[in-house]
Amino acid sequence: MEKLTILTGAARYDASCSSSGTERGPKAGMLGAAANMGCCHSFSADGRCVSLLKVLLTNACTYDCRYCVNRRSNDVPRAAFEPRELAELTIGFYRRNYIEGLFLSSAVMKNPDYTTERMVETLRILRREYRFNGYIHAKAIPGTDPLLLRELGLLCDRMSVNIELPSEAGLRRLAPDKSKQAILLPMGRIRDGITENRDAVARYRRAPRFVPAGQSTQMIIGATPESDLQILRLSQGLYDRYGLKRVYYSAYVPVTENALLPSMDTKPPLLREHRLYQADWLLRFYGFRAEELLDERNTHLDPLLDPKCGWALRHPEQFPVDAQTADYETLLRVPGVGVRSARRIVSVRRTGPLHFEDLKKMGVVLKRAQYFLLCGGRAAPGLRMGPDTARRSLMLLEPPALSPGEQLSLFAP
Ligand code: SF4
Repeated sequence: MEKLTILTGAARYDASCSSSGTERGPKAGMLGAAANMGCCHSFSADGRCVSLLKVLLTNACTYDCRYCVNRRSNDVPRAAFEPRELAELTIGFYRRNYIEGLFLSSAVMKNPDYTTERMVETLRILRREYRFNGYIHAKAIPGTDPLLLRELGLLCDRMSVNIELPSEAGLRRLAPDKSKQAILLPMGRIRDGITENRDAVARYRRAPRFVPAGQSTQMIIGATPESDLQILRLSQGLYDRYGLKRVYYSAYVPVTENALLPSMDTKPPLLREHRLYQADWLLRFYGFRAEELLDERNTHLDPLLDPKCGWALRHPEQFPVDAQTADYETLLRVPGVGVRSARRIVSVRRTGPLHFEDLKKMGVVLKRAQYFLLCGGRAAPGLRMGPDTARRSLMLLEPPALSPGEQLSLFAP
């Protein structure tokens, strides 16, 4: 219990644990299933998405990242699980219905290879001895031997390598044992492994799966001075080059007094984190590029407006858009219109003219969309609008601020 308290507590700063993306269903003779369920669709007290068994193998780290509670120079109680001990604990919790999967991370014990060997052994016991078929997310440690990385990837559903900080300069300042190159290398290997595996599975249906739920990463926001534009450009590059499923943004929570870090009474920038998640959603599902959302004159997202509304207000030349005739991609750019409602509009309008009432039923948020949308050449009934009215009204639709404990919206803007 003592170990569990230390090692689950030490894992809570990692936000990259969403379990979406895997399709492995139940199997005869095996325990658990990874499809359509998640080990972390719940939220902790500080608003983060957590797995019910989100744990470190050890918090005894040989590295000294200044922002991290587990760093070598920090005087905290240390603990480490034996692989069998953690596997048994996981399976025991699973059987009691406490958890549906495992999010396994670790501090660097001795060196990356030694740590990864122990992670591989834990997952091997779980998968091969206990026949555990549920969801597993494992952290890859930069610097690990490619063969070990591959073994780990064959045992888990999702892997993540944390990019940690948004710039190389930030890494040099705060995580001197790490480098951007060393972090990107395993990301590239995981991407290549997934691509090769896809081909193998297409040829041999029974080929073992390598990281079937893809890879993700996490970066800390607010510990270093990078702008939102730099952060979004980095995320876009990661999506484009490494095919990442998700980039997680983690508002920096001060854990130590250090001249290189924000002071201990700095509040975690949760509203900024929330805006970055919204912008990230626009990059992944709405066809936006980082340079459209921000530019050299506007390097930070507007805290008072969601990024899509902010973009729309800066681009009056693109509006109004007529729901009756606009193409799907243009509809997606209208605030208040989501992926599903844009699809419905395109499908329903084939059968007849659209009305604002219909749009509402299709899931369009008219409180936002009315300023940018026409229906059959007509504006929303009763709408009086100038650019200032729209901005003011849209700002009023936004929550004033998020405080710790409030649930962060990770959903579409
Ligand atoms: S490697 Fe750095 S971030 Fe990871 S546990 Fe060790 S000190 Fe913390």
